[in-house]
Amino acid sequence: MADLVKVEDVSFRYGRDEEYALQNITFSVREGEILGIVGPNGAGKTTLLSLLEGLHQPESGRIIAAPNLRTGILFQVNGYFDNLSVFENIDMFQSMYHNAYDFEELDRIVDLEDIKGKKVTELSGGQRQRFFLALSVLNRPDILILDEPTTGLDPNARLMLWNLIRKVTGTVIVTSHYMDEVENLCDRVCFVDKGRLFAVDSPKKLIKLSHVKGYVTFSCK
Ligand code: ATP
Repeated sequence: MADLVKVEDVSFRYGRDEEYALQNITFSVREGEILGIVGPNGAGKTTLLSLLEGLHQPESGRIIAAPNLRTGILFQVNGYFDNLSVFENIDMFQSMYHNAYDFEELDRIVDLEDIKGKKVTELSGGQRQRFFLALSVLNRPDILILDEPTTGLDPNARLMLWNLIRKVTGTVIVTSHYMDEVENLCDRVCFVDKGRLFAVDSPKKLIKLSHVKGYVTFSCK
């Protein structure tokens, strides 16, 4: 598999007087994989995503992306219209892109039939994540970035979202607090703690590592 993104010896801190949020991080994102980033609170997961998204620049090291990559990001906070229905929101965003999925294509990936007539304010947590997922894949991204997409969802809604994420074609990067989540979902996993990348490996191999072992008790069940 070709590398879509290479992260090479990247360090980052939010200010000159701050601790390093990330230190000497090196890994690649391979085409077509679901790559997990797992670690405890404050490990640096969201910071790492923000560098991959280009929101921050590394203080040292570099991030090299394949040319013309389209990135999809799961919006949590804004970027949609509360008082419009799911269908109307999607219709509006479709008109902004050149090559967006049409509603039927999107429905096949994300299952929107039961929520298409509902206003965003009327959606449950799990339904809302489904709608966000639909928005984030609308423009056929080469890489989809999901920051803790299942936080706050009940076990059934989590399972449903995992199934939908697996149906997304292309490459997915997903952060999580839960080892069992990345074990279920991901081809490979980066384990980060205190700004350091301790290992990148298949979930099966990763959970055998001593540093990670103490962490496998963190389960989303
Ligand atoms: P969580 O699982 O709790 O979301 P995380 O792994 O995503 O945590 P980050 O949010 O990336 O961790 O935080 C990494 C470190 O950077 C932490 O020490 C945090 O306090 C610090 N940090 C995060 N955002 C900022 C910011 N805007 N300004 C200063 N420091 C920040």
